Amino acid sequence: MPTPLIATDGGYRLLPFRFMRIEGDSRDDVLITSDTGEYLFIPESQLPVIVHRQLPPDDPLYKNLLARHFIREPGGHDPLPEMAAQYRSRKSFLFGGPALHLFVVTLRCNHTCQYCQVSRAPLAGAGHDMSAEHALDAVSRLFESPSPVLTVEFQGGEPLLAFDRIRQVVEEIGERNEREQRDIQFVITSTLHHLNDTVIEFAQKHRIQFSTSLDGPAFLHNANRPTPTRDSHERTLKGIEWVRSALGHDAVSALTTLTSRSLQHPREIVDEYVERGFNSISLRPLSPYGFAKKSSERLDYPMHQYVEFYKEALSHLIEINQQGTYLAEGYTSLLLTNILTPFTSGYVDLRSPAGAGVGALVYNYDGDVYPSDEARMLLEMGENGLRLGSVKDSLPTLLSSPVLELLLSAGVAEALPGCTDCALVPYCGADPIEHYARQGDPIGHRRLSSFCEKNTALLTHLFKLLRDGDEDTQRVLLSWMARRSLIDLPASGYRG
Ligand code: SF4
Repeated sequence: MPTPLIATDGGYRLLPFRFMRIEGDSRDDVLITSDTGEYLFIPESQLPVIVHRQLPPDDPLYKNLLARHFIREPGGHDPLPEMAAQYRSRKSFLFGGPALHLFVVTLRCNHTCQYCQVSRAPLAGAGHDMSAEHALDAVSRLFESPSPVLTVEFQGGEPLLAFDRIRQVVEEIGERNEREQRDIQFVITSTLHHLNDTVIEFAQKHRIQFSTSLDGPAFLHNANRPTPTRDSHERTLKGIEWVRSALGHDAVSALTTLTSRSLQHPREIVDEYVERGFNSISLRPLSPYGFAKKSSERLDYPMHQYVEFYKEALSHLIEINQQGTYLAEGYTSLLLTNILTPFTSGYVDLRSPAGAGVGALVYNYDGDVYPSDEARMLLEMGENGLRLGSVKDSLPTLLSSPVLELLLSAGVAEALPGCTDCALVPYCGADPIEHYARQGDPIGHRRLSSFCEKNTALLTHLFKLLRDGDEDTQRVLLSWMARRSLIDLPASGYRG
């Protein structure tokens, strides 16, 4: 007669955990995860045994569950202080205040990319540059943040078209920082088409880094990023070489925007990054915002197509790394950091509570302040509901705005319908602005959410590789985690 699955003694107690089935080559087909990010694969047959407290203490799994805080022994070691410390580490991004400050110094640009017309104005367009007064106000907001480490990112349009404003902001920050003594990094997100000796010398003096867009080989990059002279790829490569020779190889990173055309070329895109000597590539799907949405029939694609692309590109990347060339995929590195370390990556889109506003602020060219670049871009869809206020408002005023309250009330993934019982939630985020943009509701419906579809597919794929992959594959994935660099994925990865 089978043993009934009912606890009969005063043995171990369960601590909270979630579970999901991840099928593959292993008999350990159920993933269990704790709130503190611990995980373990177990055979499905063991799940009811564990839950009904039938697992004998001499079973090797018992010790594993105990060590990872899935179970506890009454009267034994109290795991709660350790768990509280782990939880605090994973949420430590909450204590510092906004660390990423984006200055949209101009909307002007020489490109006519369909996916980023949202933030573009003609080269000679008037009224699209940030004023000196607004820039000074924004610098004051930046120093009101208690964060000891700050990143200042210059955005556009093409920010080098407003280089005088960049110079003013950098010099003002440098001067005030003599008293403040913060650790401040500057990044210019640029096409690099407007570099000149003055810019390069200034960047050398102030240790400014660059982030650019490289969409793949010339045929793809030039199709995605048209300019009147049709030489965007060539000019970007020239800019990359110039920055590298003047400021060092790692002073420039690149991002890829993936249109539906791009999805046909995973290997070519990866190979372009190898050829150009990058050590990081970021394969992010297209943004749903602004003009990109209006052009969606031509440019956009269902998320499952992106996932197929990602898997093929990832497999190619792993092969290349196994052959001795280091090239990490940025989003994968962030997810692996969330899975495999006691900390989170801190990346704004993968935070819970959501990072918009709390972790990042965007100062628009006209003096308006937004919680993220995506919230600013919704303007082009006729939606200005996510404005926090003006650069003239103090930081406490901006951070107590009703908009931020709304975003935070929808921004705790652990409390959202669908996420609350998802085993992937310790490694995922809430991203209320993406759900607001796509579904008209910051909470959104996870079954219809492409954010959820993407993160479910990518996290599940990575967990499979960590469980079923050979030693070489695992070695490559671990190496990506260790050398991750946050500037490879600025909050605003779609332009420049
Ligand atoms: S968004 Fe999806 S994958 Fe992420 S925690 Fe929520 S339900 Fe899970």
